Amino acid sequence: MLIVDCGLGFADETMLGVDLLIPDITYLQNAIKQSKRIVGMLITHGHEDHMGALPFILPQLPDFPIYATTLCANLANGKLKEFGVAKKVEAVPLESDHELHLGVFSAQFIRVTHSVPDTSHIFIRTPIGNFYHGSDFKIDETPFDNKKTDKEKIKRLAAQGVMCLLSDCLGAERQGHVPTEATLTDFFFDEMKKTQGKFIVTTYSSNINRLNQVLQAAQKLGRRVCFVGRSLVNTVEVAKMLKLINLPKGMEIRMDEIKQYKNSQLVLFVAGSQGQENSALTRIANKEHKDVRLTPQDTVVFSSDPIPGNEISVNTLIDTLMRIGTNVVYSSIAHVHVSGHGSTDELGELIDMVKPKKLFPIGGNFKHMVAYQKLAMQKGYNKQDVFLPEDGQEIVFTRSGAAFGQKFMVRRVYVDQISGEEIESYVLRDRQKLSQDGVVAIIAEIDGEIGGLTQNPTVIVRGFSDKDTDMLIKVVQKEMQKMFATKKGRITNFMYVRRMIGKTIEEKLFRQYRKKPLILPVVIEV
Ligand SMILES: [Zn+2]
Repeated sequence: MLIVDCGLGFADETMLGVDLLIPDITYLQNAIKQSKRIVGMLITHGHEDHMGALPFILPQLPDFPIYATTLCANLANGKLKEFGVAKKVEAVPLESDHELHLGVFSAQFIRVTHSVPDTSHIFIRTPIGNFYHGSDFKIDETPFDNKKTDKEKIKRLAAQGVMCLLSDCLGAERQGHVPTEATLTDFFFDEMKKTQGKFIVTTYSSNINRLNQVLQAAQKLGRRVCFVGRSLVNTVEVAKMLKLINLPKGMEIRMDEIKQYKNSQLVLFVAGSQGQENSALTRIANKEHKDVRLTPQDTVVFSSDPIPGNEISVNTLIDTLMRIGTNVVYSSIAHVHVSGHGSTDELGELIDMVKPKKLFPIGGNFKHMVAYQKLAMQKGYNKQDVFLPEDGQEIVFTRSGAAFGQKFMVRRVYVDQISGEEIESYVLRDRQKLSQDGVVAIIAEIDGEIGGLTQNPTVIVRGFSDKDTDMLIKVVQKEMQKMFATKKGRITNFMYVRRMIGKTIEEKLFRQYRKKPLILPVVIEV
């Protein structure tokens, strides 16, 4: 078995940074029990939804080699270290034509453009034919770092025949071509020149090319730069080490040095473009940040789009900033961001280059997969050549064709987010709460079809006397039984259930016992 990518989902629809969704690996564990072997894992790029679950998943599996491109491997290894997981991702330079041999498979990374440098597609040889794993990409002909999609390599490898193309489909509803990153270079310079106060930019911390564009403008205009927010500082450290960022000596200043400069001499990169509750930008907007205060002469640029579901928190943040009188520039009023996912022209160009027998759209919702199917049909494919499987659906390939195999049960596994943006303040907040009020973790297995508990939930209590601990376990279990006795019927929104458990137990413990412990509900769908 060869695994590609190990990402996580942000399960909460209104606030990134509260809940995480990690992959269910039961099918892998079962296969291992039947003495199948994992020969390796390949990771396409350094985004959370492609490698963020590594610290949660790797400890549950036997050892195997893991490969990724240089930046991705460095980001992943930083994450594993932070979580105390003693495993390592090997870096494979994209420029090499190095072929990895993993059991019966062999694989080559291919450079593509996306919103994080060192993004790759993977050409995989198997005993029955070749596969092209084309996750997140666009085809930008003038990327800021000048590292273009390696079309020559795509065509050269694809000429050996491709059984199936797995392709990004997130942009399949958009006609045409995504504008090049180069269209943003002049914007940053002009806007920065106009700004009399501080120039503040928020974007995804992994978008290193975007950071470089702003740095170039800052250098031309003689401004100093400062990075605010832990996730951003971590990424910039890795980017500096790999020489992916252009930061002339003396240009970067520390946060405590800000006061020595005039506002007009400053550019700040601030984490929190999604309006996350604990992010640096939210704290600045709420006047809670100890080093940064905004003035009406400052400009804040949101060089990102809200991730679907985060619109409300982003809009609230923009409102808060505007009330200070600050000039706020965001995507609906100016061209400040371009997507990292290709539109129909780019998706179609990949199909033309790869010329696969079958297609399998990945990385989008069902509507994006359907839009991709339409695109493939315009290119002359039959409807049945494009797979639109549900999660857990096995697709069996043979030399002569492909068909759906068995369907695996894939549970949704939710955990509380303990990583990502602003881990410091989050951990700090939990520790404060822990030291004062204790913690109650509730692990509930819930049958999604009938909406009930499959067994008495496991309750773990810390920070209370033995007597109180016993009492709390009983009270929580009883309350959970009561809660689910009245709730019957199919459950579609597990996040809601998780939150309801937290709320119900919190209220119960406060109302009856005046206790306010940290409640950590974990819901497992069975
Ligand atoms: Zn991505």
